[in-house]
Formats: sequence, structure tokens, C-alpha cells
Amino acid sequence: MNAFVEKPPSASRAALKSPLVMGYEVVIGFETHAQLSTQSKIFSRAATAFGAEPNTQACAVDLALPGTLPVMNKGAVERAIQFGLAIGAHVAKKSIFARKNYFYPDLPKGYQISQFEIPVVQGGEIEFFLGEQKMSVRLERAHLEEDAGKSLHEDFVGQTGIDLNRAGTPLLEIVTQPDMRSSAEAVAYAKELHKIVTWIGICDGNMQEGSFRCDANVSVRKPGEALGTRREVKNLNSFKFMQQAIDYEVRWQIEQIEDGHAIQQATVLFNPDTGETRAMRTKEDAADYRYFPDPDLPPLVISDEWVQRVRAEMTELPRVMAARFVSDYGLSDYDATALTQSRVIAAYFEAATKACGQPKLVSNWLMGEVSRRLNTDEIALDACPVSALYLAALIARIADGTISNNAAKQVLDKLWLEASATAEGQTAVGQVDQIIESDGLKQMNDSGELEKIVDDVLAANPKNIEEYKAGNAKALNALVGQIMKGSKGKANPQQVNDLLRQKLD
Ligand code: ADP
Ligand code: MG
Repeated sequence: MNAFVEKPPSASRAALKSPLVMGYEVVIGFETHAQLSTQSKIFSRAATAFGAEPNTQACAVDLALPGTLPVMNKGAVERAIQFGLAIGAHVAKKSIFARKNYFYPDLPKGYQISQFEIPVVQGGEIEFFLGEQKMSVRLERAHLEEDAGKSLHEDFVGQTGIDLNRAGTPLLEIVTQPDMRSSAEAVAYAKELHKIVTWIGICDGNMQEGSFRCDANVSVRKPGEALGTRREVKNLNSFKFMQQAIDYEVRWQIEQIEDGHAIQQATVLFNPDTGETRAMRTKEDAADYRYFPDPDLPPLVISDEWVQRVRAEMTELPRVMAARFVSDYGLSDYDATALTQSRVIAAYFEAATKACGQPKLVSNWLMGEVSRRLNTDEIALDACPVSALYLAALIARIADGTISNNAAKQVLDKLWLEASATAEGQTAVGQVDQIIESDGLKQMNDSGELEKIVDDVLAANPKNIEEYKAGNAKALNALVGQIMKGSKGKANPQQVNDLLRQKLD
């Protein structure tokens, strides 16, 4: 049904072979509801905060009292524009709000205000890595709409209550083309989309609270055949469930087809307790919703100036930043992508790199030792006890040869425990140097002292020398080990190697 910017699949995608499941190709398209981070609702001034007492954040407009009229929230439109710009989509100069009619207890108006034929964001593309493979998924559209209320099933009294706090909360519904070919690709797409909306700050991304809700449309077909009938899987409120639910659904559909049953288009719910999907209702068609333009709202008009203003105020996007990390710092595409997983990581990396001028070391330490310790302590980088400046000070001492990698890990251990207790006025460099000094971690850079140890070890190990000369390269390692021991670990292994070869070859 895409009437918009139809883009052919990129050459790299067309060249990719789809992974098959039991001889079937999996086809997945996503619809994601991102709750926009405005203070007030999309058509009223009621607050949008999560977790308030039921029905304390619903005003007359949200309750659909007679005589009330919706007024568009500019902040919600602005966020939609930001999203469109972030993914290289077309931002429509004029889009239309429509009424989607259905009857449900948590929908007081009897219709939801949404966009149908002309959405605000059209086309666009999301690029991401699946392992080392670069992928892209084309978007069909992203449209503005209001959320419905919530039905609260109070099992203990056998009744259902209605909470209208969520009614009128602004949503951006983001719809992809059916471009994904595996559950792993679908999860990678969803993670990338999540990264983009949180990075540009239009959505808090909280999946548990329902701020980022993904529905997966799943079908299977034999390679080369027309698209199969899809079922829409809802209730995927974690990336883990997303993968489980799609895998289950794919197996279920293949079994049905193999047993000779046709797939019925349906909406199904994932049950995380059983790991199964179950049909909720047969799927409505657009015609069932009797869409028509909402007479209460004028067309949404977005001027070029408005788009320019939004563009000028936008932060650098993750993939633009990643490209800059590659060109400015000589990092690999893969590392640059990893470092732009979130703004916190990117900011930490850049601050440390600016302070010590060692992008590759910073990248390695950040993705390696630092993230390992964060995982162990179960804390996020923004709560890291070692700030970017401290890591930079440490790395500067590795780079200038003062300490070895191993010694640096010991310093990091200490910093991890002590950095927060830094004496007033003491600089990061000062504290790092002090730990190196007091713990005797300085690398042995005086070649005279080292040479003496080398000579002693050689004199004591004639057998290893013989073996080495006879062509056993491993014998050299034994000698290096002895020398490192003799230096109490302070020798620079590279220097030891060089000295040994110089003496033996
Ligand atoms: P609706 O609005 O009725 O849900 P759409 O045409 O908007 O239908 O499509 C919804 C989603 O389903 C889109 O993400 C689209 O890519 C995906 N989709 C459409 N056809 C298929 C199919 N045969 N298999 C898997 N996904 C599909
Ligand atoms: Mg749809």
C-alpha cells in the first residue's frame, strides 16, 4: 500500500541470501509505537507522566466530553520532524489527521485520531549491523496518533476498570516495509530504531512501561513465491521476547502449512510464560475502521523554515558520528558503531580521546576492561567510577611506555575503588602517577638494568638457547617468561623480545 517514496532495495541487500528455516523464507515487517516525550498530550494540556493514580491525568478533551476540541501539540510535530530527518525520510509539507473508528471501553470518543492516507513522515531507511554484516530496512511511513486508555483487569474483584491517563498520549507509529528475513535481523532493526529515538530524545525508550512497543508482522514462503499471509504478533516488550516470539511464530506457521492448513490473517499475542503465540482476533481490514479525515483538525502544515529550524537544532546522529569516528580517528566501522550505541558511550569516548590523543587505545579499553568491570558491578557507564579523564590519564601512561598493559589493569582496579575519593585539587594525571609510583608499577625502561637481567637469564638457561637455535621458536617464550619474572613484571615485553633476538640471532 505504499504510495510514497518507493525505494528499491539497496544493492547490498539484494545480493544477500536469506537464511531459510526448514526450506522456508521468513518475511517480517515491523510496526512500532514510540511514545513521544512531550510533557502534555497530543491534543490536550493534560500531563503524560507515567504511573499517576488512575484517571488523574485525563482532562475533558481526553474524556471526549461534548463540546471539546483537539488542539495539536507542536512539540509532538517537532519530534516527528526530528525522526524524519534522522532517517533520511520525506517530511510532508501537508499531512492529514483521520478518525479510525472502533469501539472499545478504553476509547471514549469511539474513534482514535491518527493519520491514514497522508502521514507526516514518508519513506526513509534504517541502517544497522547484524554481526559484521551491514543491513538496511526501508521504512514505509511514520505517522502521529493518540494513544488509547488502559483496561485494568482487577481479577480479585472480578471487575475491569478503565484508566484514561494514557488516552491522548502522543505516539509516532513507525512502519517498515516487509524487508526483514530473520528474527535476528528483526531484533537488530528494533535495537537500532530504539537507539535512534532515544538518541535524538523523542522517546524515553522504556519498553517495560510501554514507551516503545513493537508489533512484528510475520509470514513465511517458499523462496521465489509471492508473500505469504501474515500474522501480527503483539506484546513484545523486551528484545528477548521479540526473538522468542518470532521464532515460535515462524515454526508454528511452517507446521501449519506443512500440515496442509492455510494461514489466516490474525493478530496474535505472545505469552512470555509459555513462549507461545495465540490468536487474539482475526485481523481487521482498513475498511473496517471507516477512516475519514477528522473535521475537527486542520491539515498539519509544516513549512520549510520549520524543518530547517529543527534540523539546525538537532544533535549529530549516531551514524553520522560513527562515520566521523572512522575518518577522524581511524577506527573500524564496527568499533565506531559500537562506540555510538548511546550518547553516553560516545561522549565518554570523545572526552577521553581528546584528553589523551589515543583513540584506538581508548576504544579498546572502553569496550574491553571498562565495560567488563561495569558488567560485573551491574552499573551503566554514566555511573562509572572512573571518569573519561581518569581513563585518559591511564592510557597516556600506557602510550608513553611508563606502564605495561598488565600494570595498567592494576591501576584501573585501584581507580575503580578510589577515584571517587580523589583528594581535592588532585588531577587525574596526578592520581594515576601516584598509584603507579606507590605500587611500584613503572615499566623498566632503563635498558642497562634490563640487559643485566637478560644476560643472567641467558647464562642460566643454555638449554633453551640451544633449542631456540635449533629452530624451536617456543623456547624464546620460556626465556621471555624468565626475564619478565626477573624484572618482577616491570620489563616491557616488546623490549625484552627485541633484546633477546638481538643477542641470539
Ligand atoms: P496494517 O496497517 O493493516 O497492519 P500495513 O500494510 O500497514 O497493514 O502493514 C503492516 C506491516 O506489515 C508493515 O510493516 C508491512 O511491512 C508488514 N507486512 C505486510 N505484508 C507482509 C507479509 N506478507 N509478511 C510480513 N510482513 C508484512
Ligand atoms: Mg498498520
